[in-house]
Amino acid sequence: MHIYTSSQIKKADQLAESLGMEGFALMENAGGGLYRSISPLLLKRDVIAVLAGRGNNGGDGVVLARYLQMNGYQVHLMFPMGEPKTKEAVQHLQYYKSCGFEVIPFNQAANYNWIIDGLLGVGVRLPLKRELKHVIEWINSQEATVISIDVPTGVDSDTGETDLQVVQADYTFSLHGFKPSCFLYPAVSHFGVTKVIDIGLPHTGRWKVWNRDDVVQTLPKRRANAHKGTFGTGLLIAGSDDMPGSAVLSAIGALRFGIGKLSVLTTKEAKQIIASIVPEATFLIRDLAKQELIADIDPFSCIAIGPGLPQDDVLEQLIHEILTKEIPVILDAGALRKREYPYRKNPIILTPHPGEFVRMTGIATKQLESKRIELASKYAVEHHVIVVLKGQYTVIAFPDGSGLINVTGNESLAKGGSGDTLTGMLLASLSIHQDVKAAVANAVYIHGLCADKWIEDNGSSTLVAHEYANLLPIVMHQIEK
Ligand code: ADP
Ligand code: ADP
Ligand code: MG
Repeated sequence: MHIYTSSQIKKADQLAESLGMEGFALMENAGGGLYRSISPLLLKRDVIAVLAGRGNNGGDGVVLARYLQMNGYQVHLMFPMGEPKTKEAVQHLQYYKSCGFEVIPFNQAANYNWIIDGLLGVGVRLPLKRELKHVIEWINSQEATVISIDVPTGVDSDTGETDLQVVQADYTFSLHGFKPSCFLYPAVSHFGVTKVIDIGLPHTGRWKVWNRDDVVQTLPKRRANAHKGTFGTGLLIAGSDDMPGSAVLSAIGALRFGIGKLSVLTTKEAKQIIASIVPEATFLIRDLAKQELIADIDPFSCIAIGPGLPQDDVLEQLIHEILTKEIPVILDAGALRKREYPYRKNPIILTPHPGEFVRMTGIATKQLESKRIELASKYAVEHHVIVVLKGQYTVIAFPDGSGLINVTGNESLAKGGSGDTLTGMLLASLSIHQDVKAAVANAVYIHGLCADKWIEDNGSSTLVAHEYANLLPIVMHQIEK
């Protein structure tokens, strides 16, 4: 399922027009699609208010109102800001009226069962005009179930920004694809249940939601005659005397995800602890200050650096050296800081949580929340790296400007250690899978799915990181079968 910004929707409209698909027909598809999605929710005796704006969002509302009228529902079509002014919306309103259906002056008296918010869609520029504020206040004060067309009015479609007044929808039917605001705070909290309606525009999007089908299609099968060499040898540089647990969690994540062999480079003290919990791992003890490692790293299929490591100059120098080698590298936690990255064939994957992204970029925390997708993508393109910006709806941004949104996972992951486990899973996934985009996305998806499985089985957020790595066998089995 694709994700489109408002300018991409406009471009898709123009492309469709140039290919012979008129705006009038697209609006018909939108209204018809809305009707087919909404009508199963309605009862014949329900009274439905359709509030339509002056642009194309309003036009879609007019077409929906016509379908509802034609099918015997009681509909009040109202234009709180005046009648539509775009060409297609005007044409559809004429057809609506020619069919003998009425437009009703905006009134706040009736008791509606449903309110359709067709006021503003992707064409909105915040702040809202004052005349809209009382309309939104009225919508939100009603008991009716509220359905927004495209985005709830008051939401900026491209970011998580909202006006002070925002329609609180129970359902949102997003046309052609998702919008960035479907995944960004605070906007996303106004969408309710969100569904996408295909309206016949060509799909040209470079951002997608990564879903179960994508995982099922791309997750490599483990052949019966496989041997440990088939699944790569990962190097995990993690854990310190103060934080040996981070390396334990990453190591469990990597092994449970199916890596062939795992070496851990850590301190002598941390090694004792890790080895006692993760007997499958082997160890490298090197003096990083002497750069002893560099000559050894060629046999590794992938390297992950950072969980449980302090940020210091020795680490920085090591990262610098490693990045000169053509091996996929994952940088997490202590390995994330402001720096430039060399151009190389093999991917560099950065896995910051929002705080680490702020540290890497200097972007203000407040700005980040509502623009996570745009800012992660900008960084990935400018620094030619893959950015996995973690949190609810983890953003995976690629250096070619494309990207993916992950929808698995839940607040039980908001705990120390969750990200360390993900780093291990990424190390395994990249060691096993040649397709880098799918390898990254599958690890993020499955990591979240373990947390979802925990909530499904236990109904609470009491999960801790080492437990959900142990859920991996069940979750992987469900995907593989
Ligand atoms: P489009 O017609 O571009 O597909 P919409 O139906 O979402 O998009 O709405 C665009 C219309 O809304 C335009 O007529 C514009 O003047 C109006 N509009 C945009 N921003 C605001 C706002 N903040 N307050 C009120 N009206 C707005
Ligand atoms: P740590 O470094 O302590 O291991 P991180 O902050 O690096 O943890 O990573 C936290 C992990 O938990 C990330 O994968 C993130 O996406 C996930 N996560 C945190 N909060 C949520 C949430 N509310 N919903 C979904 N996933 C979350
Ligand atoms: Mg972390």
